[in-house]
Amino acid sequence: MSHRQLTEPKLVVASHNPGKVREIAELVAAAGIEVVSAAEIGLDEPEETGTTFIANAELKALAAANVSGLPSLADDSGLAVHALGGEPGIYSARWAGPEKDFPAAMKIVEDRLASSRSQDRSAHFACALCLAWPDGHSETFEGQVHGTLVWPPRGDRGFGYDPVFLADGEAETFGEMAPSRKHAMSHRANAFKLLLEACLNGHG
Ligand code: IMP
Repeated sequence: MSHRQLTEPKLVVASHNPGKVREIAELVAAAGIEVVSAAEIGLDEPEETGTTFIANAELKALAAANVSGLPSLADDSGLAVHALGGEPGIYSARWAGPEKDFPAAMKIVEDRLASSRSQDRSAHFACALCLAWPDGHSETFEGQVHGTLVWPPRGDRGFGYDPVFLADGEAETFGEMAPSRKHAMSHRANAFKLLLEACLNGHG
């Protein structure tokens, strides 16, 4: 399959989540591309009406490309807990409420796991990345990282559900490990590798 190449030297990172903007900006900067944040150009956050990570990433990237006139990259991601049928999934941010209270969201996950009486604590993070152009073309990639959930939460690095996520084969949660280590193995890094190979060939 042939993918459209990013030939422009800069793109908009269409996210208002500071943790994600930081991680995506670092990944994109490593490919030698200048990043403009959604906040810098006053982009509104569209409502996430999609039912999949991919659909939500597409709608955010296309909205940003349309308004900014620049290629735009959006991420939709979340935690899928297997014993909870994949929840919170696309609702990962929403489980933290308007206050973005992730200690509370992690507690909801733990309480639901306890009431499910399942012994299965496996989960994965998924990330859909969509690169969209102002003419409406888009390219989308999905990455995952598998692991198990720990309780109580450990570490104050990272963001979101990082303190309860222990990637397979690791001793430290994403909340404890050095950001460079998380960036080398995360769902976002895996999606980004696919994007880099497919569309950013001339960069980095
Ligand atoms: P959205 O993609 O902005 O709708 O929200 C994704 C949500 O998933 C974030 O607010 C986090 O709660 C969670 N999430 C996504 N990626 C990560 C990660 O790398 N670490 C921890 N939580 C994450």
